[in-house]
This record gives sequence, structure tokens and C-alpha cells, in this order.
Amino acid sequence: MKEAHCVADLRGLLAPLRRSGEVSFVPTMGALHEGHLSLVRRARREAPVTVVSIFVNPIQFGPGEDFEKYPRSYERDLDLLAGEGTDVVFAPRAEDLYPEGFSTKISVSGVSERLEGAVRPDHFAGVATVVAKLFHAVEPASAVFGRKDLQQCAVVRRMIADLEMPVRLVVAPISREADGLARSSRNAYLTGEERARAPEFSRALLDAAGEIRAGEDPGRAQEAARRALGESGFGVDYLELVDPVSMELLSRNRSGAALVSAVRLGKVRLLDNVLIEGEP
Ligand code: AMP
Repeated sequence: MKEAHCVADLRGLLAPLRRSGEVSFVPTMGALHEGHLSLVRRARREAPVTVVSIFVNPIQFGPGEDFEKYPRSYERDLDLLAGEGTDVVFAPRAEDLYPEGFSTKISVSGVSERLEGAVRPDHFAGVATVVAKLFHAVEPASAVFGRKDLQQCAVVRRMIADLEMPVRLVVAPISREADGLARSSRNAYLTGEERARAPEFSRALLDAAGEIRAGEDPGRAQEAARRALGESGFGVDYLELVDPVSMELLSRNRSGAALVSAVRLGKVRLLDNVLIEGEP
């Protein structure tokens, strides 16, 4: 496994590797867990060359968010990625990706604006900008993203389409702990007591999805889930039935619809979503 820390070095490393075929790419912020590794395994099935980036992207964090204390475990991440047969790790420095005077921002309207976008106003512009930069650097044929971040997938899909980027978006399923909690680097922030309560989040979403699937009015199922989570001490930022491509709110179930939610448990924000028709 090779490592590059700037775009020029990455291009130098990738040039000979491209002779063996297409590149598949997994962007991450590190602090890797089994969810990330499931994406790497998926990427390896997509193309003969696998590139994983590790970059805690400062411009997608708002003021007062956890950029400084975001978990970092670079050496452990490298071991995990080597164990999965990753070909190249790209871990750029922030000053290389965003040198003095950097002024370009990609903002994807519509899909970015609701839900996460309403709670974290500049977040998706930060995501779209770094993903575009990373795509230019890696030039992948395919890029694997986790459905865990459903709206992020919608934003990237829209950007790829609008800018006609020659990248195939692969959306991989959510990797969960045995008790149902969606894996996340931020789960490390949960206290023991919060961790014990956290699975109630996915359970509430699964219950509401089951009711909607059985014909219950989505508005009522959502309201019951919000109430149950509130009574269990979760602060609900949003819990909505959406079209996962447009991220528009749905008042009625339709094929492909998802229940998407963000909650606060103590100081930790948790994101999750379930497909009404069940996991693929
Ligand atoms: P992050 O390091 O949090 O930026 O995530 C990097 C990629 O891993 C994103 O595409 C995430 O959606 C994906 N990811 C994070 N957690 C999970 C999970 N539990 N299951 C599947 N994919 C995940």
C-alpha cells in the first residue's frame, strides 16, 4: 500500500497503477470503523485499483462544531486499510488542499438545503467542494459512499450529474453494530450510559418504517417516533419521510422512500435512515 500527501505525489503514484485498470475511490475522514471498511471492500469489487482518502475537511465543519476534537487515528487507519488490500491512501494536508487565497466553493442548491443543510448551513458546500477536489485528484471511475449519510449521497449524485463528472456513484448499505446502532466515528463520544440508550434511535426508525409499510399515515408514524425519541431523552433535529434522490419531504409512501433522521444524545449528534421497503 502506498501513501501520498499531496496531489502531485498522488498523480505520480496513480499513473503506473492505472495501467492495470480503473480506479475506485472511497473518501473518508479517518477514524475508520467497520462501516468504512465495508465501503473499501465494495470499492475493491468495483475496480482493480482502490484509493482511500483520509482528510478531516475543515470547510465542512461549522463554527462550534467538533473539527478540532474530531477523532484521529492515522496509524491504526493505515493498518486497517492495508489489511483490506487498499492500493493507495491519499492523506493530504489542509494547507495543500486549501492554500492561502483558496476561493472556490461548489454549492448544490435544492438537495442541500433541507434537513442536515438547514441545521448545518455551509456543511454541504464544504462536502461538495472537497469531493470535487478529491475527484479531480484521484480521477476515479467509481466512488463509494455510505447510505448512512443519505443526503450527502444525494448532494454528490446531483453534483456529478450537473458537472458531468465521469464518476459512477456507488451507494453502499449502512453498517450497524449488533444492537442496531449505525456505526459512526462520532459514536466514540458517547458515554457508557448514552451508548446503552443509542440503539433506541434505529429501533424507533425501524418501527416507524414498519408502520408506514403496513399502511399507517407517514405523518402520524413520524410524529409517534419523534415523541418516543423525545421521551427517551433524544433531541430530535428532524425525522422525515423523503425521496432519497431529491431529498424532498413526502407526505405519502412511495417506492424507494426513506425515513431519515438526526438526533442529539447528550453532546453527540447521530444520523440514521431506513428504507421503508427494507434494506437492499
Ligand atoms: P466519514 O469518515 O464519516 O466522512 O465517512 C466516510 C464514508 O463512510 C461516507 O461515505 C459515509 O457515509 C460512510 N460511512 C460512515 N459510516 C458508515 C456506516 N455505518 N455504514 C456505511 N457507510 C458508512
